[in-house]
Amino acid sequence: MRIAFCCTDTKAEPWLQGLGQALPRATIEVWQPGAAPADYAVVWAPPQQFLDEQPGLKALFNIGAGVDALLKLRLPAGAQVVRLDDAGMSVQMAEYVSHAVIRHFREFDAYEADMREGRWSFRKPRSRADFPVGVMGLGVLGARVAQALSVFEFPVHGWSRTPKVLEGVRTHHGDVGLQTFLSSCRVLVNLLPLTPDTRDILNRETLGRLLPGGYLVNVARGAHLVEEDLLALLDSGHLAGATLDVFRTEPLPPEHPFWRHPKLTLTPHTSARTLRDESIAQIAGKIRALEAGQPIAGLVDRFRGY
Ligand code: NDP
Repeated sequence: MRIAFCCTDTKAEPWLQGLGQALPRATIEVWQPGAAPADYAVVWAPPQQFLDEQPGLKALFNIGAGVDALLKLRLPAGAQVVRLDDAGMSVQMAEYVSHAVIRHFREFDAYEADMREGRWSFRKPRSRADFPVGVMGLGVLGARVAQALSVFEFPVHGWSRTPKVLEGVRTHHGDVGLQTFLSSCRVLVNLLPLTPDTRDILNRETLGRLLPGGYLVNVARGAHLVEEDLLALLDSGHLAGATLDVFRTEPLPPEHPFWRHPKLTLTPHTSARTLRDESIAQIAGKIRALEAGQPIAGLVDRFRGY
């Protein structure tokens, strides 16, 4: 069995070593143009030429959860596309989002500013009931985040394409459910995949439906957010602030207005990182299952886009 490793911006050696230990009978190589075609591929942002040289590929393992960039490419017709299915990401996402929501709710930024000024001053406690949180996307990551927030006793709403039942979460779905979902929430967390249906979904109209003093946490993809609409809603005061981990252009250009906006907290696309050992174990397990003719989780529906 041949496995090609073709991951841009990723140090190959530890992946080859880990995959080699997990699949000792496989030949695992970093792809070079003109190399023999592979049975399986482990990829991140591969060049089109790599895909064009893999006519017999059985499966493409994307070493991330989001496949929007991969699906823009021309993929070998018979290859199944497989995304990382948690592999240590959901706990990271739950801690990142819980931190962002609690930091805003408990006004820790303001306390930090007070501390720097040597000021001992209490703020009036806010009621959780006034801070309903909505999670867009109730998949592997969104469901975990929604349940983490419900542990802190925030009223939690969730929105997905198809109906869902999640303990501690009021769920909504589809276009009709979106309006009720948005107008029920003060804090909005985006964990949707980027597809033609969800591109630009965070805009003046949708964010404008949040309860006044709304707060946005975008941890999915930059192209979900219409950036100038966010700036307008922050400046009008309808939104109190936002925590953003993803941007339309990454790295965020130095002249971008987000850098210096006082109501924004930014991180460099780091909310849930790919963990190498967990990912290798998951990919190797799935290759073994596929070779044994067994079903696997995390298959992407190319036409649905996630
Ligand atoms: P999943 O595929 O498991 O879940 C996607 C969820 O979104 C599902 O609940 C799905 O609904 C819902 N959804 C999709 N399309 C629509 C739509 N048109 N309307 C309403 N709901 C919709 O994805 P993950 O939870 O694993 O990951 C989500 C995204 O998070 C990734 O695609 C990626 O972009 C981003 N991400 C960001 C990272 C970071 O570091 N910032 C790290 C990892 C991922 P249904 O259940 O009905 O199908």
